[in-house]
Amino acid sequence: MNSNELALNGGTPLCKEPLRPEPWPPVDAQTSEILRDIYFSRQWSFNSPAEQRFQTRFAQCHGAKHAIFMANGTVTLQAALSACGIGPGDEVIVPANTWMATAMAVHYVGAITVFVDVEPATLCIDPSKAEDAAGKKTKAIIPVHLYGSMCNMDDMLSLAREKNLHIIEDCAHMHGGKWKGKGAGSMGSVGSFSFQQSKTLSCGEGGICITNDDDLADRIFRIKHIGYDSNSTQGAAMTGPPPGLTCHNFRATAFQAAILDSQLDHLHQRIEKYNHNASLLSAMIEDCRGVRIQSPGLHASPQGYYGLVLIFDGPPLDSVDDKMIADAAAAEGLTFGRTYGPVYRHMLFNLHPSQYRIQAGGCPVAENQGTHRAFVLHHHWLGADDNTIEMIGRIICKIARCLG
Ligand SMILES: *Cc1c(COP(=O)(O)O)cnc(C)c1O
Repeated sequence: MNSNELALNGGTPLCKEPLRPEPWPPVDAQTSEILRDIYFSRQWSFNSPAEQRFQTRFAQCHGAKHAIFMANGTVTLQAALSACGIGPGDEVIVPANTWMATAMAVHYVGAITVFVDVEPATLCIDPSKAEDAAGKKTKAIIPVHLYGSMCNMDDMLSLAREKNLHIIEDCAHMHGGKWKGKGAGSMGSVGSFSFQQSKTLSCGEGGICITNDDDLADRIFRIKHIGYDSNSTQGAAMTGPPPGLTCHNFRATAFQAAILDSQLDHLHQRIEKYNHNASLLSAMIEDCRGVRIQSPGLHASPQGYYGLVLIFDGPPLDSVDDKMIADAAAAEGLTFGRTYGPVYRHMLFNLHPSQYRIQAGGCPVAENQGTHRAFVLHHHWLGADDNTIEMIGRIICKIARCLG
């Protein structure tokens, strides 16, 4: 047996046992005590002291004035769009490669989703293509800071100013990330985050909107809490919601808020570790021909990470079948995740053709590099110990060398 030969072809695998990421989400005894106390307090609903503290701290940590905690990171996008006055007859631009929620939130407010291609380097929305796609009906863009990259926010914000559009940042992958010193989600009209099980801050299910705009904050709060404003106690509203603003129940519980409030203590450290391990891996694969890492946003520091994306689109690996790459890595002991393909190709996507459009010229980057050449190591891999990180680098180099 030969360790220079791929395990897939009968060589010795680099790891005898499959590699394991850091267990996710993190748990600790102190948080379980806090949850126990909430349980016995019988105060389980929304607006708990834990929720208020978490909202304040989360807003501060991202440089925003307001934060409104909700049930998940899909309704936060819906609430953001609705608060910005977007509805039937309007169009909203979204990147082709993202999770379903980004596109579906547009549909939930009755607007048309316009899919735009992404940049090859970052796999985030291409600002020049967004500009081409923006027409008279366009009211907003939802840039998605995807995996380990931030969108070019300078270009996004200047396009928004020029065309009078709202920017709603989808930061479901970008907790703790900053662009030129500005917190993810704080740069446009509203920033939306998810706290679903897999995300970098997690309470199982949850989401939050942040904004610097007092009016938008008021509208978002009312959308979350069936029309009440944030100062009224339930049943004693002093003022009603603005006419036509459809309000919902998007509230979440004290348990979720308490978990997030403890996790937030460690976010900064966590992001530092992810950045450190991402640079170690980048350095290890720098000389491997044919594979590259999704480029972090040029001005992102620190870079938030939902995952580290590997893109096998350079010669000689650009013609190697993607399943072969995944199988080769798995045989050495490393299981890659797949990146999102274009939303409009997802098996669950069923919008009627009148409810969305794909920009003229289609989305070739999203369809090719973004789908068939890209793999993701989710952030819990970046939280792994030094030996695991070293082994991940060696596996990537070995498969690149042997498949090339
Ligand atoms: C996770 C995610 C969301 C929101 O998802 P929920 O599961 O509803 O919290 C939105 N956009 C992106 C890009 C996501 O990854």
